[in-house]
Amino acid sequence: MSTSSATSIANGNAPSGPMGIFGGTFDPIHYGHLRTAYELLEILRLPEIRFMPAGSPPHRAGTIADNEQRLAMVRAAVIGQPGFTVDDREIRKTSPSYSIETLAELRAEFPERPLCLIIGMDAFLGLPQWHRWRELLHLGHLVVAHRPGWNAPTLGPLGELLVDHGTGTVRELHEQRAGRIYIHAVTQLEISSTDVRALIGAGRDPRYLMPEGVRRIILETGCYARKELGRG
Ligand code: ATP
Repeated sequence: MSTSSATSIANGNAPSGPMGIFGGTFDPIHYGHLRTAYELLEILRLPEIRFMPAGSPPHRAGTIADNEQRLAMVRAAVIGQPGFTVDDREIRKTSPSYSIETLAELRAEFPERPLCLIIGMDAFLGLPQWHRWRELLHLGHLVVAHRPGWNAPTLGPLGELLVDHGTGTVRELHEQRAGRIYIHAVTQLEISSTDVRALIGAGRDPRYLMPEGVRRIILETGCYARKELGRG
């Protein structure tokens, strides 16, 4: 059963150009995530970016908001932005979801579309620890959102990977289905979900850190209230 595909086409037309895939815990989603995705949507001329909240398998450190709440917040966050969609396939899984498996599923569903997996530079630097990481580029492109303080590696396996696969040309992300790495600096908003939760737990209002619809869900469900009081 694919509830995710129903979700992903919820905003109307079914685009055919490159699909951006933006995974995260989104506990909660905030403007740091949304601004990053929006800039990439524009710069890379992506017709679609799918927000893909990660699952919270029972044996791993859990999230604070539950799966339904995180999904509802992500859905609320994308309302009104053409091209932003939500894919719930990972959050519906009880087993760990590896990026390689998600990409393989999407590739099977969309044999011709370029797939752009969006990750931060910090995540990119840890890529060699990912499950079957060398196969990722067979299935899609990597788009690395650059955060301050992180430089692209020039040595080692990732340095070599960039020599072979790096590109500064957006057109290549459209013309090829997979195999390129595109690094792009995005405006940094110093917001983190951890800080947002601490702020709410301390009884403060998260207004202007996230869309109003997300804030309303947080206030109505009380999902972060008093669970993570700021320390020191
Ligand atoms: P936490 O504080 O719980 O670690 P987070 O705010 O980093 O959460 P995640 O859901 O873990 O949020 O992040 C999803 C993706 O968004 C990651 O690739 C992360 O690097 C990126 N990201 C998070 N915050 C920002 C931000 N302020 N600006 C740009 N990218 C961000």
